[in-house]
Amino acid sequence: MIAESKASALPLEGSNPYELRLDQSQHVPESAVKQALHTGDMGFVHSFTTGSAVDGPGMRVVAWTAGCQWRCVYCHNPDTWKMTNGIPITVARATEELSKYRKGLKVMSGGFTLSGGEPLMQHRFAAKLLAAAKKMGIHTTIETNGFYGDRLTDAELDTIDLVMLGIKTWDPARHTALTGLDIGPTLAFARRLAARRRPMWIRFVLVPGLTDDMDDLAKTAAFAASLGNVERVEVLPFHQMGRFKWERLGLDYTLRDVEPPTPDAVERACAVLRQAGLHAV
Ligand code: SF4
Repeated sequence: MIAESKASALPLEGSNPYELRLDQSQHVPESAVKQALHTGDMGFVHSFTTGSAVDGPGMRVVAWTAGCQWRCVYCHNPDTWKMTNGIPITVARATEELSKYRKGLKVMSGGFTLSGGEPLMQHRFAAKLLAAAKKMGIHTTIETNGFYGDRLTDAELDTIDLVMLGIKTWDPARHTALTGLDIGPTLAFARRLAARRRPMWIRFVLVPGLTDDMDDLAKTAAFAASLGNVERVEVLPFHQMGRFKWERLGLDYTLRDVEPPTPDAVERACAVLRQAGLHAV
């Protein structure tokens, strides 16, 4: 049995979404990590946030998982890349935490969002926790880059009320340059969700000089509009809140001089998406 979060010096609830958290499960033997990934009875979580109004519909409790296989050059939480930075927590304990908020979330038309990092790095844990939340009558959302979407069965997908899928760019070469990996699995996951008519939001990060090519965005918009299940597209302006994490981790941060997009630039991106018939905010 893995020692749970009592071995961590940090509380489960983060003080803010940009708190730097490192080495929270360094004490967990590799064999136990492998077992946890296999069974999903235990997961590795950067932190919990209660009362988020920006991570899905209504007021949300968010669990930020540790572990991500992408290396987005504008990632604002690079401390979530390594799974060993996360606090080990059993599904039972995470479910118990969630149950405390069940009534309040219902009143505030909210729910539970599983985000990261990339939650499907721990797909067994993700499936079990989302199913447990759903069983309690809590609205469930997963925020994912979709790369490991094929790890979820159709039945597991049906326990997720909303998928928030990050699409970074349309151009495959640019995608690889921005994230380190191929765009194909993300688009395949989007098509699969569409075929199953599962509700989806798309999240797009607008980074001046990197993702602000409006012809490229128009292609993403045409794809999203063709799916028929995209309820909303969120344009998220790039910011520098994660810069200190890159510096503290000794990572090469190439965007240190990039300014956030202007409100006009955000509006132009929304206009391109609306022109394709999408609800863009
Ligand atoms: S997918 Fe998300 S968590 Fe992973 S590197 Fe990109 S921005 Fe960071």
